[in-house]
Amino acid sequence: SKEDVQAFLKKNAFVLFTVGAVIVGITLGFTLRPYKMTYREVKYFSFPGELLMRMLQMLVLPLLISSLITGMAALDSKASGKMGMRAVIYYMTTTFIAVFIGIIIVLIIHPGKGSKDEFGKQQTIEQVSPADAFLDLIRNMFPPNLVQACTQQFKTKYGKRIVRVTVTVNDSLFNSTNGTQEAMEITREEVIPVPGQVNGVNALGLVVFSMCFGLIIGNMKEQGQLLRDFFDSLNEAIMCFLLNKHYYHTSITRYSSLPVRYAPIGILFLIAGKIVEMDDLTQMGGQLGMYTITVIIGLLIHAVLILPTLYFAITRQNPFVFIAGLLQALITALGTSSSSATLPVTFKCLEENNKIDKRITRFILPVGATINMDGTALYEALAAIFIAQVNNMEMNFGQIITISITATAASIGAAGIPQAGLVTMVIVLTSVGLPTDDITLIIAVDWFLDRLRTTTNVLGDSIGAGIVEFLSRHELRSKDVEMGNSVLEE
Ligand code: ASP
Repeated sequence: SKEDVQAFLKKNAFVLFTVGAVIVGITLGFTLRPYKMTYREVKYFSFPGELLMRMLQMLVLPLLISSLITGMAALDSKASGKMGMRAVIYYMTTTFIAVFIGIIIVLIIHPGKGSKDEFGKQQTIEQVSPADAFLDLIRNMFPPNLVQACTQQFKTKYGKRIVRVTVTVNDSLFNSTNGTQEAMEITREEVIPVPGQVNGVNALGLVVFSMCFGLIIGNMKEQGQLLRDFFDSLNEAIMCFLLNKHYYHTSITRYSSLPVRYAPIGILFLIAGKIVEMDDLTQMGGQLGMYTITVIIGLLIHAVLILPTLYFAITRQNPFVFIAGLLQALITALGTSSSSATLPVTFKCLEENNKIDKRITRFILPVGATINMDGTALYEALAAIFIAQVNNMEMNFGQIITISITATAASIGAAGIPQAGLVTMVIVLTSVGLPTDDITLIIAVDWFLDRLRTTTNVLGDSIGAGIVEFLSRHELRSKDVEMGNSVLEE
Protein backbone atom coordinates (compact mmCIF):
# COMPACT_ATOMS: atom_id res chain seq x y z
CA SER A 1 0.00 0.00 0.00
CA LYS A 2 0.92 3.65 -0.19
CA GLU A 3 1.78 3.83 3.51
CA ASP A 4 4.09 0.86 3.18
CA VAL A 5 5.93 2.49 0.30
CA GLN A 6 6.21 5.72 2.25
CA ALA A 7 7.44 3.91 5.32
CA PHE A 8 9.99 2.02 3.24
CA LEU A 9 11.23 5.22 1.60
CA LYS A 10 11.48 6.96 4.93
CA LYS A 11 13.36 4.13 6.55
CA ASN A 12 15.78 3.68 3.71
CA ALA A 13 16.08 7.30 2.60
CA PHE A 14 19.75 7.60 3.29
CA VAL A 15 20.65 4.35 1.66
CA LEU A 16 18.67 5.38 -1.42
CA PHE A 17 20.33 8.81 -1.42
CA THR A 18 23.71 7.14 -1.18
CA VAL A 19 23.02 4.80 -4.06
CA GLY A 20 21.67 7.77 -6.04
CA ALA A 21 24.82 9.72 -5.20
CA VAL A 22 27.00 7.06 -6.80
CA ILE A 23 24.93 7.11 -10.00
CA VAL A 24 24.81 10.91 -10.19
CA GLY A 25 28.52 11.10 -9.37
CA ILE A 26 29.46 8.76 -12.20
CA THR A 27 27.21 10.59 -14.67
CA LEU A 28 28.47 14.01 -13.61
CA GLY A 29 32.08 12.84 -13.81
CA PHE A 30 31.76 11.56 -17.34
CA THR A 31 29.80 14.66 -18.43
CA LEU A 32 32.52 16.98 -17.16
CA ARG A 33 35.50 14.96 -18.38
CA PRO A 34 35.56 16.41 -21.92
CA TYR A 35 36.14 19.88 -20.41
CA LYS A 36 39.62 18.84 -19.32
CA MET A 37 39.75 20.67 -16.01
CA THR A 38 43.15 21.57 -14.64
CA TYR A 39 44.45 19.84 -11.57
CA ARG A 40 43.60 22.88 -9.47
CA GLU A 41 40.05 23.03 -10.79
CA VAL A 42 39.56 19.35 -10.05
CA LYS A 43 40.71 19.98 -6.49
CA TYR A 44 38.12 22.76 -6.11
CA PHE A 45 35.44 20.63 -7.68
CA SER A 46 36.13 17.68 -5.35
CA PHE A 47 36.11 19.89 -2.26
CA PRO A 48 32.75 18.61 -0.92
CA GLY A 49 34.19 15.10 -1.15
CA GLU A 50 37.33 16.12 0.69
CA LEU A 51 35.10 17.45 3.47
CA LEU A 52 33.45 14.06 3.91
CA MET A 53 36.84 12.38 4.17
CA ARG A 54 37.85 14.86 6.83
CA MET A 55 34.63 14.47 8.82
CA LEU A 56 34.95 10.71 8.89
CA GLN A 57 38.65 10.75 9.68
CA MET A 58 37.93 13.20 12.48
CA LEU A 59 35.87 10.52 14.21
CA VAL A 60 38.18 7.62 13.59
CA LEU A 61 40.78 8.31 16.23
CA PRO A 62 38.46 8.77 19.25
CA LEU A 63 36.19 6.02 17.99
CA LEU A 64 38.97 3.50 17.52
CA ILE A 65 40.54 4.12 20.90
CA SER A 66 37.41 4.45 23.01
CA SER A 67 35.60 1.53 21.44
CA LEU A 68 38.51 -0.85 21.84
CA ILE A 69 39.18 0.17 25.41
CA THR A 70 35.53 -0.14 26.49
CA GLY A 71 35.10 -3.26 24.41
CA MET A 72 37.99 -4.97 26.15
CA ALA A 73 37.09 -3.61 29.58
CA ALA A 74 33.51 -4.87 29.29
CA LEU A 75 34.50 -8.46 28.72
CA ASP A 76 36.17 -10.65 31.24
CA SER A 77 39.52 -11.92 30.07
CA LYS A 78 38.24 -15.42 29.42
CA ALA A 79 35.39 -14.27 27.20
CA SER A 80 37.52 -11.73 25.37
CA GLY A 81 40.21 -14.34 24.87
CA LYS A 82 37.70 -16.72 23.29
CA MET A 83 36.18 -14.05 21.08
CA GLY A 84 39.60 -12.80 20.12
CA MET A 85 40.60 -16.31 19.12
CA ARG A 86 37.48 -16.68 16.96
CA ALA A 87 38.14 -13.35 15.31
CA VAL A 88 41.76 -14.20 14.59
CA ILE A 89 40.82 -17.59 13.14
CA TYR A 90 38.21 -15.91 10.95
CA TYR A 91 40.66 -13.23 9.78
CA MET A 92 43.36 -15.74 8.96
CA THR A 93 41.08 -18.17 7.19
CA THR A 94 39.36 -15.58 5.03
CA THR A 95 42.59 -13.80 4.18
CA PHE A 96 44.17 -17.05 3.04
CA ILE A 97 41.11 -17.95 1.00
CA ALA A 98 41.29 -14.51 -0.61
CA VAL A 99 44.96 -14.93 -1.48
CA PHE A 100 44.25 -18.38 -2.87
CA ILE A 101 41.46 -17.05 -5.10
CA GLY A 102 43.69 -14.24 -6.33
CA ILE A 103 46.43 -16.68 -7.31
CA ILE A 104 44.14 -19.21 -8.98
CA ILE A 105 42.30 -16.56 -10.97
CA VAL A 106 45.43 -14.85 -12.25
CA LEU A 107 46.97 -18.19 -13.23
CA ILE A 108 43.84 -19.23 -15.11
CA ILE A 109 43.09 -15.95 -16.89
CA HIS A 110 46.77 -15.10 -17.38
CA PRO A 111 46.30 -11.39 -18.15
CA GLY A 112 50.04 -10.63 -18.55
CA LYS A 113 51.70 -11.38 -21.87
CA GLY A 114 55.40 -10.74 -21.35
CA SER A 115 55.71 -7.30 -22.89
CA LYS A 116 55.88 -3.97 -21.20
CA ASP A 117 55.79 -1.79 -24.31
CA GLU A 118 52.17 -0.83 -24.07
CA PHE A 119 52.44 0.52 -20.56
CA GLY A 120 54.30 3.74 -21.28
CA LYS A 121 57.21 5.04 -19.28
CA GLN A 122 58.17 3.84 -15.85
CA GLN A 123 59.39 5.54 -12.74
CA THR A 124 62.00 4.32 -10.34
CA ILE A 125 60.90 3.13 -6.96
CA GLU A 126 63.00 3.09 -3.88
CA GLN A 127 64.08 -0.41 -2.91
CA VAL A 128 62.83 -1.81 0.36
CA SER A 129 63.99 -5.14 1.66
CA PRO A 130 61.27 -7.53 2.85
CA ALA A 131 63.12 -7.99 6.15
CA ASP A 132 62.97 -4.27 6.87
CA ALA A 133 59.32 -4.17 5.91
CA PHE A 134 58.52 -7.02 8.30
CA LEU A 135 60.42 -5.33 11.10
CA ASP A 136 58.52 -2.12 10.38
CA LEU A 137 55.25 -3.98 10.71
CA ILE A 138 56.27 -5.16 14.16
CA ARG A 139 57.77 -1.80 15.12
CA ASN A 140 54.47 -0.12 14.33
CA MET A 141 52.74 -2.34 16.87
CA PHE A 142 54.67 -0.63 19.64
CA PRO A 143 54.67 3.09 19.07
CA PRO A 144 57.19 4.69 21.43
CA ASN A 145 55.18 7.89 21.48
CA LEU A 146 51.42 7.55 21.65
CA VAL A 147 50.76 11.13 20.68
CA GLN A 148 52.87 10.69 17.60
CA ALA A 149 51.04 7.49 16.76
CA CYS A 150 47.90 9.58 16.44
CA THR A 151 49.44 11.83 13.81
CA GLN A 152 51.53 9.48 11.78
CA GLN A 153 52.34 10.44 8.25
CA PHE A 154 52.34 7.73 5.66
CA LYS A 155 54.62 8.08 2.72
CA THR A 156 53.00 7.54 -0.62
CA LYS A 157 55.10 7.49 -3.72
CA TYR A 158 52.40 8.75 -5.95
CA GLY A 159 51.43 12.20 -4.80
CA LYS A 160 50.92 15.11 -7.17
CA ARG A 161 51.82 18.71 -6.71
CA ILE A 162 51.32 21.87 -8.67
CA VAL A 163 54.62 23.58 -9.39
CA ARG A 164 55.63 26.66 -11.32
CA VAL A 165 58.01 25.85 -14.09
CA THR A 166 59.85 28.28 -16.25
CA VAL A 167 60.48 27.11 -19.76
CA THR A 168 62.62 28.76 -22.35
CA VAL A 169 61.23 28.80 -25.84
CA ASN A 170 62.70 29.95 -29.09
CA ASP A 171 59.68 31.48 -30.64
CA SER A 172 60.19 31.50 -34.38
CA LEU A 173 57.57 34.16 -35.01
CA PHE A 174 59.15 36.36 -32.44
CA ASN A 175 62.56 35.78 -33.97
CA SER A 176 61.54 36.46 -37.54
CA THR A 177 59.75 39.77 -36.87
CA ASN A 178 62.41 40.97 -34.55
CA GLY A 179 65.33 39.71 -36.54
CA THR A 180 67.32 38.67 -33.50
CA GLN A 181 67.84 35.26 -31.99
CA GLU A 182 66.30 35.77 -28.58
CA ALA A 183 64.72 33.31 -26.27
CA MET A 184 61.54 33.89 -24.39
CA GLU A 185 60.83 32.70 -20.89
CA ILE A 186 57.39 31.54 -19.94
CA THR A 187 56.32 30.61 -16.47
CA ARG A 188 53.44 28.27 -16.16
CA GLU A 189 51.89 25.84 -13.74
CA GLU A 190 52.40 22.14 -14.14
CA VAL A 191 51.40 19.11 -12.19
CA ILE A 192 54.23 16.79 -11.33
CA PRO A 193 54.12 13.47 -9.56
CA VAL A 194 56.04 13.74 -6.30
CA PRO A 195 56.45 11.54 -3.28
CA GLY A 196 53.41 12.42 -1.23
CA GLN A 197 52.33 12.03 2.34
CA VAL A 198 49.02 11.10 3.82
CA ASN A 199 48.08 11.98 7.35
CA GLY A 200 46.74 9.15 9.34
CA VAL A 201 47.00 7.32 12.55
CA ASN A 202 49.25 4.40 13.29
CA ALA A 203 46.16 2.29 13.80
CA LEU A 204 48.09 -0.91 14.45
CA GLY A 205 49.99 0.65 17.33
CA LEU A 206 46.89 2.21 18.81
CA VAL A 207 44.99 -1.07 18.52
CA VAL A 208 47.67 -2.93 20.45
CA PHE A 209 47.86 -0.27 23.12
CA SER A 210 44.09 0.14 23.50
CA MET A 211 43.51 -3.59 23.78
CA CYS A 212 46.08 -3.98 26.53
CA PHE A 213 44.86 -0.86 28.28
CA GLY A 214 41.22 -1.96 28.10
CA LEU A 215 42.11 -5.37 29.45
CA ILE A 216 43.94 -3.79 32.36
CA ILE A 217 41.27 -1.31 33.37
CA GLY A 218 38.67 -4.05 32.99
CA ASN A 219 40.51 -6.07 35.62
CA MET A 220 41.10 -3.21 38.02
CA LYS A 221 38.87 -2.94 41.08
CA GLU A 222 37.15 0.31 42.14
CA GLN A 223 40.18 2.31 41.12
CA GLY A 224 39.49 1.49 37.51
CA GLN A 225 35.89 2.64 37.62
CA LEU A 226 36.67 6.23 36.71
CA LEU A 227 38.54 5.20 33.58
CA ARG A 228 35.92 2.63 32.61
CA ASP A 229 33.19 5.23 32.92
CA PHE A 230 35.25 7.81 31.09
CA PHE A 231 35.94 5.70 28.02
CA ASP A 232 32.43 4.29 28.01
CA SER A 233 31.00 7.78 28.01
CA LEU A 234 33.45 8.96 25.35
CA ASN A 235 32.50 6.04 23.17
CA GLU A 236 28.77 6.72 23.52
CA ALA A 237 29.35 10.38 22.73
CA ILE A 238 31.25 9.60 19.54
CA MET A 239 28.58 7.15 18.47
CA CYS A 240 26.05 9.96 18.82
CA PHE A 241 27.77 11.60 15.86
CA LEU A 242 26.63 8.67 13.80
CA LEU A 243 23.33 7.29 14.93
CA ASN A 244 20.11 8.95 14.01
CA LYS A 245 17.68 7.30 16.37
CA HIS A 246 17.27 6.73 20.01
CA TYR A 247 19.23 3.62 19.96
CA TYR A 248 21.34 2.93 22.98
CA HIS A 249 20.10 5.03 25.78
CA THR A 250 16.81 6.75 25.95
CA SER A 251 18.60 9.30 28.09
CA ILE A 252 20.34 10.67 25.02
CA THR A 253 17.97 13.04 23.32
CA ARG A 254 19.98 14.44 20.46
CA TYR A 255 22.05 12.85 17.78
CA SER A 256 24.17 14.79 15.37
CA SER A 257 24.62 12.27 12.57
CA LEU A 258 26.06 15.08 10.48
CA PRO A 259 28.67 12.92 8.73
CA VAL A 260 26.02 10.35 7.89
CA ARG A 261 23.58 12.88 6.52
CA TYR A 262 26.31 14.58 4.57
CA ALA A 263 27.75 11.31 3.21
CA PRO A 264 25.70 11.17 -0.04
CA ILE A 265 26.88 14.63 -1.12
CA GLY A 266 30.45 13.85 -0.22
CA ILE A 267 30.38 10.53 -2.04
CA LEU A 268 28.89 12.13 -5.14
CA PHE A 269 31.77 14.59 -5.41
CA LEU A 270 34.46 12.09 -4.45
CA ILE A 271 33.40 9.84 -7.30
CA ALA A 272 32.73 12.59 -9.85
CA GLY A 273 36.05 14.29 -9.04
CA LYS A 274 37.97 11.07 -9.48
CA ILE A 275 36.36 10.32 -12.82
CA VAL A 276 37.15 13.82 -14.07
CA GLU A 277 40.74 13.47 -12.95
CA MET A 278 41.56 9.93 -14.02
CA ASP A 279 44.00 9.17 -16.80
CA ASP A 280 42.75 8.31 -20.21
CA LEU A 281 41.55 4.79 -20.49
CA THR A 282 42.89 4.23 -23.98
CA GLN A 283 45.39 1.65 -22.80
CA MET A 284 42.66 -0.27 -21.10
CA GLY A 285 42.11 -2.48 -24.10
CA GLY A 286 45.32 -4.43 -23.62
CA GLN A 287 46.95 -6.20 -20.71
CA LEU A 288 45.90 -3.58 -18.22
CA GLY A 289 42.27 -4.09 -19.18
CA MET A 290 42.57 -7.85 -18.77
CA TYR A 291 44.31 -7.31 -15.46
CA THR A 292 41.49 -5.06 -14.25
CA ILE A 293 38.89 -7.63 -15.22
CA THR A 294 40.86 -10.38 -13.49
CA VAL A 295 40.97 -8.39 -10.25
CA ILE A 296 37.26 -7.64 -10.46
CA ILE A 297 36.42 -11.31 -10.96
CA GLY A 298 38.62 -12.33 -8.04
CA LEU A 299 37.09 -9.76 -5.69
CA LEU A 300 33.57 -10.69 -6.79
CA ILE A 301 34.13 -14.37 -6.13
CA HIS A 302 35.36 -13.57 -2.66
CA ALA A 303 32.71 -10.99 -1.81
CA VAL A 304 29.64 -12.47 -3.45
CA LEU A 305 30.35 -16.17 -3.16
CA ILE A 306 32.85 -17.10 -0.46
CA LEU A 307 32.02 -14.68 2.34
CA PRO A 308 28.22 -15.06 2.08
CA THR A 309 28.54 -18.85 1.91
CA LEU A 310 30.72 -18.84 4.99
CA TYR A 311 28.22 -16.63 6.78
CA PHE A 312 25.35 -18.89 5.85
CA ALA A 313 27.24 -22.07 6.71
CA ILE A 314 27.91 -20.83 10.21
CA THR A 315 24.86 -18.78 11.16
CA ARG A 316 22.17 -20.33 8.93
CA GLN A 317 20.85 -16.86 8.20
CA ASN A 318 20.41 -15.11 4.89
CA PRO A 319 23.74 -13.45 4.12
CA PHE A 320 22.22 -11.06 1.61
CA VAL A 321 19.87 -9.59 4.18
CA PHE A 322 22.95 -8.99 6.30
CA ILE A 323 24.77 -7.40 3.35
CA ALA A 324 21.78 -5.21 2.54
CA GLY A 325 22.08 -3.73 6.02
CA LEU A 326 25.68 -2.83 5.21
CA LEU A 327 24.99 -1.08 1.95
CA GLN A 328 25.77 2.37 3.24
CA ALA A 329 29.12 1.29 4.62
CA LEU A 330 30.00 -0.52 1.41
CA ILE A 331 29.22 2.54 -0.68
CA THR A 332 31.19 4.75 1.69
CA ALA A 333 34.14 2.41 1.22
CA LEU A 334 33.71 2.68 -2.53
CA GLY A 335 33.63 6.48 -2.30
CA THR A 336 36.47 7.02 0.15
CA SER A 337 38.72 4.04 -0.68
CA SER A 338 39.65 3.91 2.97
CA SER A 339 38.45 1.27 5.38
CA SER A 340 39.50 3.35 8.34
CA ALA A 341 37.54 6.40 7.16
CA THR A 342 34.58 4.06 6.62
CA LEU A 343 34.82 2.66 10.15
CA PRO A 344 32.26 5.06 11.68
CA VAL A 345 29.69 4.12 9.05
CA THR A 346 30.46 0.43 9.46
CA PHE A 347 29.72 0.77 13.16
CA LYS A 348 26.45 2.48 12.43
CA CYS A 349 25.29 -0.11 9.91
CA LEU A 350 26.19 -3.11 12.02
CA GLU A 351 24.69 -1.83 15.24
CA GLU A 352 21.67 -0.03 13.90
CA ASN A 353 20.62 -2.15 10.94
CA ASN A 354 22.05 -5.56 11.67
CA LYS A 355 21.65 -5.34 15.43
CA ILE A 356 25.06 -6.73 16.19
CA ASP A 357 25.81 -6.62 19.89
CA LYS A 358 27.91 -3.58 20.64
CA ARG A 359 30.22 -5.61 22.83
CA ILE A 360 31.20 -7.40 19.62
CA THR A 361 31.41 -4.44 17.26
CA ARG A 362 33.44 -2.34 19.64
CA PHE A 363 35.91 -5.05 20.07
CA ILE A 364 36.02 -6.56 16.58
CA LEU A 365 35.57 -3.69 14.13
CA PRO A 366 38.56 -1.51 15.01
CA VAL A 367 40.84 -4.53 14.84
CA GLY A 368 39.27 -5.77 11.62
CA ALA A 369 39.56 -2.41 9.89
CA THR A 370 43.23 -2.36 10.78
CA ILE A 371 44.48 -5.86 10.10
CA ASN A 372 41.82 -7.80 8.21
CA MET A 373 41.98 -6.86 4.53
CA ASP A 374 40.81 -9.68 2.31
CA GLY A 375 40.53 -7.51 -0.76
CA THR A 376 44.03 -6.13 -0.35
CA ALA A 377 45.53 -9.58 0.20
CA LEU A 378 43.81 -10.97 -2.88
CA TYR A 379 44.93 -7.96 -4.88
CA GLU A 380 48.56 -8.05 -3.82
CA ALA A 381 49.02 -11.71 -4.65
CA LEU A 382 47.26 -11.33 -7.96
CA ALA A 383 49.18 -8.20 -8.92
CA ALA A 384 52.54 -9.77 -8.07
CA ILE A 385 51.87 -12.73 -10.35
CA PHE A 386 50.61 -10.41 -13.06
CA ILE A 387 53.89 -8.50 -12.90
CA ALA A 388 55.75 -11.80 -13.15
CA GLN A 389 53.73 -12.66 -16.24
CA VAL A 390 54.48 -9.31 -17.85
CA ASN A 391 58.18 -9.99 -17.22
CA ASN A 392 57.93 -13.46 -18.70
CA MET A 393 58.88 -15.03 -15.42
CA GLU A 394 57.27 -18.28 -14.37
CA MET A 395 56.68 -18.51 -10.65
CA ASN A 396 57.42 -21.94 -9.22
CA PHE A 397 55.45 -23.49 -6.39
CA GLY A 398 57.81 -22.26 -3.69
CA GLN A 399 57.61 -18.72 -5.00
CA ILE A 400 53.84 -18.87 -5.05
CA ILE A 401 53.85 -19.94 -1.41
CA THR A 402 56.18 -17.05 -0.64
CA ILE A 403 53.79 -14.69 -2.42
CA SER A 404 50.85 -15.99 -0.37
CA ILE A 405 52.67 -15.42 2.89
CA THR A 406 54.03 -12.00 2.03
CA ALA A 407 50.72 -10.86 0.52
CA THR A 408 49.03 -11.76 3.79
CA ALA A 409 51.64 -9.86 5.77
CA ALA A 410 51.43 -6.91 3.39
CA SER A 411 47.66 -6.76 3.82
CA ILE A 412 48.01 -6.78 7.61
CA GLY A 413 50.62 -4.06 7.40
CA ALA A 414 48.68 -1.89 4.97
CA ALA A 415 47.00 1.04 6.67
CA GLY A 416 43.30 1.53 5.92
CA ILE A 417 43.98 4.55 3.75
CA PRO A 418 43.69 5.05 -0.01
CA GLN A 419 46.19 3.04 -2.06
CA ALA A 420 48.12 1.79 0.93
CA GLY A 421 48.15 -1.64 -0.66
CA LEU A 422 50.15 -0.36 -3.58
CA VAL A 423 52.91 0.78 -1.27
CA THR A 424 53.11 -2.42 0.77
CA MET A 425 53.25 -4.42 -2.45
CA VAL A 426 56.97 -3.74 -2.55
CA ILE A 427 57.30 -6.43 0.15
CA VAL A 428 55.63 -9.03 -2.01
CA LEU A 429 57.62 -8.20 -5.12
CA THR A 430 61.03 -8.12 -3.47
CA SER A 431 60.40 -11.41 -1.69
CA VAL A 432 60.37 -13.26 -5.00
CA GLY A 433 62.81 -11.05 -6.86
CA LEU A 434 60.36 -9.21 -9.08
CA PRO A 435 61.22 -5.67 -10.20
CA THR A 436 59.56 -3.23 -7.81
CA ASP A 437 59.59 -0.49 -10.43
CA ASP A 438 56.91 -2.49 -12.20
CA ILE A 439 54.39 -1.34 -9.60
CA THR A 440 54.15 1.73 -11.78
CA LEU A 441 52.67 -0.43 -14.56
CA ILE A 442 49.46 -0.80 -12.61
CA ILE A 443 49.19 2.68 -11.08
CA ALA A 444 46.87 3.90 -13.82
CA VAL A 445 44.07 1.61 -12.68
CA ASP A 446 44.90 1.36 -9.01
CA TRP A 447 42.62 4.17 -7.84
CA PHE A 448 39.70 2.19 -9.22
CA LEU A 449 40.73 -1.24 -8.02
CA ASP A 450 41.56 0.29 -4.64
CA ARG A 451 37.93 1.26 -4.21
CA LEU A 452 36.78 -2.25 -4.98
CA ARG A 453 39.26 -3.93 -2.68
CA THR A 454 38.42 -1.50 0.12
CA THR A 455 34.74 -2.43 -0.26
CA THR A 456 35.73 -6.09 -0.02
CA ASN A 457 37.81 -5.31 3.07
CA VAL A 458 34.87 -3.65 4.81
CA LEU A 459 32.56 -6.51 3.86
CA GLY A 460 35.03 -9.01 5.30
CA ASP A 461 35.24 -7.13 8.60
CA SER A 462 31.47 -6.85 8.89
CA ILE A 463 30.72 -10.47 8.09
CA GLY A 464 33.41 -11.34 10.61
CA ALA A 465 31.53 -9.37 13.26
CA GLY A 466 28.34 -11.24 12.39
CA ILE A 467 30.02 -14.62 12.58
CA VAL A 468 31.89 -13.91 15.80
CA GLU A 469 28.70 -12.64 17.41
CA PHE A 470 26.90 -15.82 16.44
CA LEU A 471 29.69 -18.03 17.77
CA SER A 472 29.90 -16.01 20.98
CA ARG A 473 26.19 -15.95 21.73
CA HIS A 474 26.51 -18.17 24.78
CA GLU A 475 29.17 -16.02 26.41
CA LEU A 476 27.20 -12.88 25.67
CA ARG A 477 24.05 -14.37 27.08
CA SER A 478 25.59 -15.65 30.29
CA LYS A 479 27.16 -12.24 30.78
CA ASP A 480 23.70 -10.69 30.31
CA VAL A 481 22.23 -13.00 32.92
CA GLU A 482 25.05 -12.22 35.29
CA MET A 483 24.56 -8.49 34.81
CA GLY A 484 20.80 -8.78 35.10
CA ASN A 485 20.23 -7.38 31.61
CA SER A 486 17.08 -8.37 29.79
CA VAL A 487 17.89 -11.33 27.62
CA LEU A 488 16.32 -11.39 24.20
CA GLU A 489 14.71 -14.60 23.12
CA GLU A 490 16.29 -16.15 20.10
N1 ASP B 1 42.58 1.34 0.63
C1 ASP B 1 42.55 0.08 1.28
C2 ASP B 1 41.77 0.15 2.56
O1 ASP B 1 41.62 1.19 3.14
C3 ASP B 1 43.90 -0.46 1.54
C4 ASP B 1 44.54 -0.79 0.24
O2 ASP B 1 45.13 0.08 -0.38
O3 ASP B 1 44.44 -1.94 -0.21
O4 ASP B 1 41.25 -0.82 3.01
